[in-house]
Amino acid sequence: MGLTGLQIYKLLPKKNCGECGPPTCLAFGMELAQQKTTLDKCPYISEEAKAELGEASAPPIRLITIGTGESEIQVGDETELFRHEKTFFHETAIGFEVSDSLDQDAFLKKVKEINELTFERIGLELSVDIVAIKNESGNAETFAQAVSRAMDETDKNLALVTEDPECARAALEKSASSRPLLYAATEDNYEEMVKIAQEYEVPLAVRGENLEKTAELSEKIAKLGYRELLLDPGSSNPQQYLEDFTQIRRLALRKKFRPLGYPTIAFTDNTEPYHEVMDAALYVCKYGNVVILKEPDPEEIYPLLVLRQNIYTDPQKPIQVEAKVYEIGEVDDNCPVYVTTNFSLAYFSVMGEIEASRLPGYLLVVDTEGTSVLTAWAAGKFDGDKIAEKLKGSGLEDKVNHKKIIIPGHVAILRAKIEDNCDWEVIVGPREATGIPSFIKKNWEQK
Ligand code: SF4
Repeated sequence: MGLTGLQIYKLLPKKNCGECGPPTCLAFGMELAQQKTTLDKCPYISEEAKAELGEASAPPIRLITIGTGESEIQVGDETELFRHEKTFFHETAIGFEVSDSLDQDAFLKKVKEINELTFERIGLELSVDIVAIKNESGNAETFAQAVSRAMDETDKNLALVTEDPECARAALEKSASSRPLLYAATEDNYEEMVKIAQEYEVPLAVRGENLEKTAELSEKIAKLGYRELLLDPGSSNPQQYLEDFTQIRRLALRKKFRPLGYPTIAFTDNTEPYHEVMDAALYVCKYGNVVILKEPDPEEIYPLLVLRQNIYTDPQKPIQVEAKVYEIGEVDDNCPVYVTTNFSLAYFSVMGEIEASRLPGYLLVVDTEGTSVLTAWAAGKFDGDKIAEKLKGSGLEDKVNHKKIIIPGHVAILRAKIEDNCDWEVIVGPREATGIPSFIKKNWEQK
């Protein structure tokens, strides 16, 4: 458990010089206990105190890196129980298991399917992170060969799923440079697995029989000097995982209980594809940091990746696009001109429907700090003055042979204000972007 502010204060230099930010050592100690500052802000602290206080100033949930280079991922270091309190920082890593018992063609086919799980949504790429090679053969050489084959076929990070130290060592001989995740240390093998993880410098997942045993095991491993850990509480079903993951997050954050201060990992265990994805969605929401599934079906994985994107978007920083004029399709001077906000989802919805209308168009995007049409209007960020001003400075007058702009139907009320502030005629469009194709067909005269 972490130290209190007073306990920390006793180890500080007591110069009260204020160089660390707060005016006194006591105030600094209090902030340190609440994880609001870091120890390195005090230049006068002794090495002994540093060692003692390192634990107190460490993040409540350790940050763990899996992989190297461009595909490297980080999990953990979360500070909130609920996303709306601030944000969640490191999104859940999603992976798929591939058995080393598959024949070569089936093995490569599955790795290829995992590689292809890449989608684009609201201008961002969604993809999966991990190929987990499962040592079902029980044979060290077969396992190592499968790992080599996977490394040749994918840029994704690897997880080596074996409880056999000999198999783990053989696979790491081939793959340690890519810093795979080793799964798992158990009560029976942990001393050997910790030695291997230390030697090859890879993160190690720890799986106990239940939450309590997992905490005991992680404590024993920490005493051996290794803390690059993830936790699998060995839960028997999704409900139990939900309870255990919630306990882990609460105890780590609220009680600073160090044995559970690590990111978590779960494997789905449901052979019915939709149920499997629902289990995975549960773990993404509550508080799984790495989730490994069985089947890489695109239609099931896309909603899971969208869910992850939504959960891990900072609620105070909506995803935005640049506020400017966009040309959708091969525009000419008779094209319609639409307006929307710079909320990514609004932009991509309108853009997609303009494309679907088969009539190219200009889309004027107004900066509303990433808020949607109605939210921006209610907050006074999408009003008639602003739209008129943006229109005047857009250069659209030189691009089209008319002065007509189509506004979203939800903000029809802005029509008069826009027309008062510029010499453009306002056409009230459909309330939803999906209405654009039929609306434009009826209301726009094509040359
Ligand atoms: S910099 Fe160090 S000595 Fe100075 S007030 Fe802060 S904690 Fe105390």
